[in-house]
Amino acid sequence: MRKNKLVFLVTVICVVLSMILIFDLVNPIGKFNKISLGYKIIFWITSAILLVHYKNSRSKLQLVPSVLSNDKPSNKENDKPNVSFKDVAGLEEIKEELQETIDFLNNANKYKKMGAHIPKGILFYGPPGTGKTLLAKAVAGETKSTFLYASGSEFVEKYVGVGAKRVRTLFERARKEAPSIVFIDEIDAIGSKRNLESNNEKDQTLNQLLVEMDGFNTYDTVIVIGATNRLDLLDEALLRPGRFDRHIFVGNPNMKAREQILEVHTKNKPLDKDVDIKELAKKTHGLSGAELANIANEAAIIAVRNNKSKISKSHFNMALERVIAGLEVKNPTVLLKEKKTVSIHEAGHAIVAKILNIDKVQKISIVPRGHALGYVIKFPEEDRYLFTEQELMNKIAILLAGRAAEDIVFNEVTTGAKDDLEKATKLAEEMVCNYGMGGLGLMVVNESFLKLNYYKFRAEINKILEKGYQQAKKILVENKELLIKISDVLMEKESIDQDELEEIFMEYEKSSNCAI
Ligand code: ATP
Repeated sequence: MRKNKLVFLVTVICVVLSMILIFDLVNPIGKFNKISLGYKIIFWITSAILLVHYKNSRSKLQLVPSVLSNDKPSNKENDKPNVSFKDVAGLEEIKEELQETIDFLNNANKYKKMGAHIPKGILFYGPPGTGKTLLAKAVAGETKSTFLYASGSEFVEKYVGVGAKRVRTLFERARKEAPSIVFIDEIDAIGSKRNLESNNEKDQTLNQLLVEMDGFNTYDTVIVIGATNRLDLLDEALLRPGRFDRHIFVGNPNMKAREQILEVHTKNKPLDKDVDIKELAKKTHGLSGAELANIANEAAIIAVRNNKSKISKSHFNMALERVIAGLEVKNPTVLLKEKKTVSIHEAGHAIVAKILNIDKVQKISIVPRGHALGYVIKFPEEDRYLFTEQELMNKIAILLAGRAAEDIVFNEVTTGAKDDLEKATKLAEEMVCNYGMGGLGLMVVNESFLKLNYYKFRAEINKILEKGYQQAKKILVENKELLIKISDVLMEKESIDQDELEEIFMEYEKSSNCAI
């Protein structure tokens, strides 16, 4: 960057001096008349060369994706990543699927002799942070190939032709440095469906990508890996055989994979004896690999902050809370009355969740974090892939239990349930429109149909929400004493963990002589 600035400064000075010399030429009493014409010509030529050089270097910077830009110091370590399949935890079936590609890159001759060719493009799709980039790097690492990373958004430009030129440059380098892996992250930024409202620049970029993929020699050892969170947005032409014809879903890890990911990310960290990775894996249902890596890192940071030589279970618990619920608000200015409302609201969620036994309640807290004034951390005890209608109804009741508790205790409700209402509505909408669980039959409903029959669907969704709300209210009215008790403990201690909650429930059962 400094070199660029210097070139810019010298060029500007030379151009200004050249202008003065030209002006001097026609001015008989000019200050520089003593300089010979020969020197002046040499100076003008030098200035012109500098100007052309500067202009060229600017346009080159604009036309090259970041991976190819000379502005960045060349990072050979990045080009040949030091990542292998050992660094990718879980995802066994995907690693197995990629073995063939790895074998092709490592033993290209074997395939050439047989006249076989390997798919040119592999598409990873799935939620963010699940290890798509890591897998692509591991393929490059396992095959000692050059890894060329580019993000789809780097090709999106205002000026027609710039994106296409960048694609061309990227693939030129890939061929030159073969065997290589071209990894295009967020490929939907350039590969989304083309429609009637043509966007000339975007279409040209996508066309160029298609041309480059078609242009590979069958035996070119260049593999293109694309990654997207939205497979449904991609243009058909990109997905057809010969281009990205292998689609691999990379989802959030299951319990076993979470355990393996946590093991990978705690491998080089000093852990206390009380840390149980298996238990931690249980508590992190629904989190992505990136979030798990973040928890391991946060726990290490917390341990350092507390001047400890080992990372303990409590550090992991704090890190988990930080990742799930957000940053703790220091010196919150919540009014006492509001704190009471939040304690009743959270106690309502916890009681209904515990009684309906869908998830295990880990912690209830009224310490503000992120944008929430309170929260309940709960996880299912095991990975679940199917839910019954009753289980979904129970989930809605748990979501609406905070509002129901406020209603029961204060006879009025607050804005605190906004998030819960959104989630409950979404779930009810899915029940009616996707799972055939409402009273409107089995038909799966798309958006345009939903718009046309809006009032019918709204009534059905409302019916489900009302049923869930009444279910939560019934449970809380029957256990109002427990609701007040938990809220009081929260007001006093600000948070209740799993064991304390268990104790409160047991005491309540004993005192009321009934099993909940
Ligand atoms: P995005 O879709 O947002 O680009 P991604 O799917 O490409 O995300 P990565 O960038 O590969 O996700 O993962 C982010 C980080 O999460 C990795 O660098 C790694 O530390 C961790 N991670 C994710 N999955 C795994 C895994 N299976 N094993 C080990 N680490 C993982």
